[in-house]
Amino acid sequence: MLVWAKRIGWGIGALLLLLALTFLSLVRITVQPASPSVSQSAAVEPAAPPVAANGDPVALIIPVEGVAVRQLSDTWGQSRGGGAREHHAIDIMAPHGTPVLAAASGTVEKIFESVNGGHTIYVRTRDRAAVHYYAHLDGYLVVERQVVHQGDRIATVGNTGSAQGGAPHLHFEIKLMQSGEGWWQGRNINPYPLLRDADR
Ligand SMILES: [Zn+2]
Repeated sequence: MLVWAKRIGWGIGALLLLLALTFLSLVRITVQPASPSVSQSAAVEPAAPPVAANGDPVALIIPVEGVAVRQLSDTWGQSRGGGAREHHAIDIMAPHGTPVLAAASGTVEKIFESVNGGHTIYVRTRDRAAVHYYAHLDGYLVVERQVVHQGDRIATVGNTGSAQGGAPHLHFEIKLMQSGEGWWQGRNINPYPLLRDADR
């Protein structure tokens, strides 16, 4: 009789413990989402200017002296050469001889005379992730292998190449590079959204 009573007592004890644990786990689950710390940590931090690992500002500058963001227009995807090709660049209109500025720091990798581009410059960015291509230039202010800093005058605006006879402007391309790719390779992205967010 005593043995049975003991067993029933243990059984009830175990059952109570199970109930207590179940209750606690329910309380934890229901309480956690109500905790205010989650929403507070998502609050917006004060904005700091973005800086790359090498200390360069990530933002590009508009690569033509004196041109403001509101003067830019998105010319990506326009038809060129009578429909022969799509425009994978931005054209920035400016008077003949206006200084062309390095959109970002890097190294002049190639100065090239091209049928369509006329006088052109290819600058590999310092992080080597992109090549910036400047075309229809009038004159050069840099040489190959020269290190340039963002904002340096590298050339002047002209209308060489396929722009001959038309309004002078800078044809500017941004090409994302895989490691090992040459200046003539890369995958073009639209410069307009990046320049629209430029520092000035
Ligand atoms: Zn163009």
